[in-house]
Amino acid sequence: MPIDPRIVPPADAARRRAVSPVVVYPNGTLPMPDMTLLERARATLEKTDEVIVPPREGATFRVPKGHFFRIVSIEGPQVGDLNLWNANDLSERFFSGKTRALHATHVTTGNRLWSTLPALRPMATISHDTLGWYGFDADGGGVHDVIGTRCDPYTNRLLSGGDYHNCCHSNLCRALAKERGLSMHEAEPFVHDVLNVFMCTGFTADTKQYFMKASPVRPGDYLELFAEIDLLGALSACPGGDCSATHSSDTARCHPLKVEIFRPDPALLADWPFPEPNGYTGIAEGI
Ligand SMILES: [Zn+2]
Repeated sequence: MPIDPRIVPPADAARRRAVSPVVVYPNGTLPMPDMTLLERARATLEKTDEVIVPPREGATFRVPKGHFFRIVSIEGPQVGDLNLWNANDLSERFFSGKTRALHATHVTTGNRLWSTLPALRPMATISHDTLGWYGFDADGGGVHDVIGTRCDPYTNRLLSGGDYHNCCHSNLCRALAKERGLSMHEAEPFVHDVLNVFMCTGFTADTKQYFMKASPVRPGDYLELFAEIDLLGALSACPGGDCSATHSSDTARCHPLKVEIFRPDPALLADWPFPEPNGYTGIAEGI
């Protein structure tokens, strides 16, 4: 937001700028997951399935409510673009913007991935993050971004004039279409803004422009999530690779990603408060 030199600042401009910021959604009123209980459940995990996402492609996976899943770096640094849906209702999907507002620009252990209105409930809770040491770096960058969207062929055409068919958006459309027996055209409206897993991003200090830098992820690192509802997921291994330079082309070095599904001892989660859709009904009642 550059300053317009034609606009004369008011006499009290400095005072107006100096008021204290207020956090929009105070964390104290947000229902928090019982991480101690999740940690106990983690100690009982048994792997039930795994999916390999090839470089520059997408793949789907299913996670039953009460199971865990891990997105794992294998072979080399690689960013993954994640979409999540309610497996029983594709209209309920991950809400990147509200997740950002409720938590922060980047998410880690204890944060939750929230679903779209009107359900607005936690779809998944991050139960472990091996990049939890990163925090925010000197450039203001962090990992597991909920500020970016996903690379897509439309923006690529807008900016470069060329066509590229393995952007994350296309990969996610292709994966969902295959999973649900839809055409690409039918699947596209269900594809949504992502969690950029392992991606290191921020805003430049001076102009506040969105930047990316090489992901700190290394083979063996993983992001682990607990499914609060039955989930259908889709993951794209971004054509940007570690997103250190470019995307939307075949120039970056890319690696596969692995998704692993785990079942915990269900007895440990017998009292887990699995979330219902949000209780507000005014709009549904026409108010
Ligand atoms: Zn991408």
